[in-house]
Amino acid sequence: MCDSNRTTFSKRQCSIEDTRERSYRIKNLLKELPTYEILFKRDVNCIEDNLCMRCGKKESETWDHMWICEDNEATLDKIARESIRKFEEYLKDNDRIEDISILRDHNVNIITILEEPSNILLRKCRIWEILRGVFINDRFNKLTNIKGERYIIKECWNFIYNEFKNRIWQPRCDEIARLEQIIGIQKQDLKRKRKQELNEEEDITRDRLIGSITDGINIEYIWDLTTKTF
Ligand SMILES: [Zn+2]
Repeated sequence: MCDSNRTTFSKRQCSIEDTRERSYRIKNLLKELPTYEILFKRDVNCIEDNLCMRCGKKESETWDHMWICEDNEATLDKIARESIRKFEEYLKDNDRIEDISILRDHNVNIITILEEPSNILLRKCRIWEILRGVFINDRFNKLTNIKGERYIIKECWNFIYNEFKNRIWQPRCDEIARLEQIIGIQKQDLKRKRKQELNEEEDITRDRLIGSITDGINIEYIWDLTTKTF
């Protein structure tokens, strides 16, 4: 009944890209992608809190929040619908004319199924099953008995899974990296400013010291002059 993440693991793959992809799939399935909530819990990189940097809503950047953060370019529902259209374009680009007609027979049902409540994830629709990468085929298999058609439906499901990653997780990582860089620069500036202030303090102390020595010389000089006049 439950067949999770098996599709792309079938062949032995060893390129860096595949390793990264596999790592993403596993961490994502376990909800252990390096969001700020996870990093903060593990005390990584001196992170100061678990809040979402992107929306600034003072909400913890949990795995769930990351998918629905208002900084995302689109809602889950919109991405799911657009992904099915994109999948059709992909089939067209690859001259898979028969597969397009299979997809057209089922695309509305696929969306309907995705919007139904999930049986395994509490208070979530089945889109969240795709987000986790858990393919529950009970409803999908009822759409058709033909193996080839089932294959296209599963392929479409995988396509949507990747679209969520490419349109939410990936841009999220780019944006966080950008924000972290700005914060890093700000921290560096702050350090530089503090150092400058310390240097200025040292300069002032040195000036005072020189000043008092100079004063001393003046006094001695005056004293010297005075003695000479007597
Ligand atoms: Zn957010």
